[in-house]
Amino acid sequence: MKSEILAALRETDGYVSGQELCEKFGVSRTAVWKAINQLKKEGYEIEAVTNRGYHILSVPDLLSENELNSIRRTKWAGSKIYYYDVLDSTNVKANHLAEEGAEHGTLVVADRQEAGRGRRGRSWNSPAHTGIFMTLLLKPENILPNNASMLTLVAALAVARAVKRVSGLESGIKWPNDIVVNGKKICGILTEMSAQIDYVNHIIIGIGINVQNEEFPEEIKDRATSIYLESGKRIHRAELIEAVWEEFEDCYEHFMETQDLSGLSAEYDRHLANRNAKVRVIDPKEPFEGVAQGITARGELIVDTWESRKLVSSGEVSVRGIYGYV
Ligand code: ATP
Repeated sequence: MKSEILAALRETDGYVSGQELCEKFGVSRTAVWKAINQLKKEGYEIEAVTNRGYHILSVPDLLSENELNSIRRTKWAGSKIYYYDVLDSTNVKANHLAEEGAEHGTLVVADRQEAGRGRRGRSWNSPAHTGIFMTLLLKPENILPNNASMLTLVAALAVARAVKRVSGLESGIKWPNDIVVNGKKICGILTEMSAQIDYVNHIIIGIGINVQNEEFPEEIKDRATSIYLESGKRIHRAELIEAVWEEFEDCYEHFMETQDLSGLSAEYDRHLANRNAKVRVIDPKEPFEGVAQGITARGELIVDTWESRKLVSSGEVSVRGIYGYV
């Protein structure tokens, strides 16, 4: 009920009377009063004025099921939310939940990760109260395993859109899975899949976003940044989470229409951090250099070398700017 009361308070700029809340949720005045007190303890500033009712003054940058549910506007993403103060990794948790029968659209969120992961087993720095660490579970009935890796690019575009909407920051995408601002990473995406040859059991999309960080550990500080460091703004993490999944639903619909990126590639290309610039493709088989042109409808990076056009698919490959990370 707390999240419903929170939602009712947030719906209006004015006051909501205790009576109205009692009637709306069919509970006693004491129950409403108790819920309001709990919300205050969690950090919500709520004013109570005699004869007028309750009015919300400020919302803490809190990630909780109540907070996330009270601002949820998505159609299906986050239909069930699991929040944890700490997890080893939201991808690991989402995988377990998927195996236990959790539904399409289940969202796992943590305030801190003890073993956050990047691609190929690399670690993802995930300190408390600063970032967004979340994983969405998809159980699509009609995606072919070969098409699933494109969802990383779909999610990257959704994050770029959401970051712009919530913070005003223009970001770029370092193909295929990183969101960058001023040449440094604010977000990484890790998509994993459980599948048979021709059937997807489930797909999980893990997203880590640096939001409030004021500093980073020595080993990543030259390539990591946060929304706060770049914009000077203290945005609400829950608002950004909501925006990411709203944008994701829209991008996902486009993707599902054709099961490729033909409806999204032009917009993705506009965000492509290395577009028209020289890149080094670190392919374990044969590294090479060329100019990144954009992506294909299947999400491959088009790179023109001095002798030919190459299409790079994600997997084992990393792309770097010729003079640095981007
Ligand atoms: P690639 O280009 O191959 O994807 P990457 O270095 O971007 O390389 P990812 O797997 O996407 O690799 O991310 C993991 C890497 O990101 C880590 O090895 C580390 O360098 C960096 N990293 C770890 N935590 C963070 C963070 N919170 N913010 C930004 N960068 C981070």
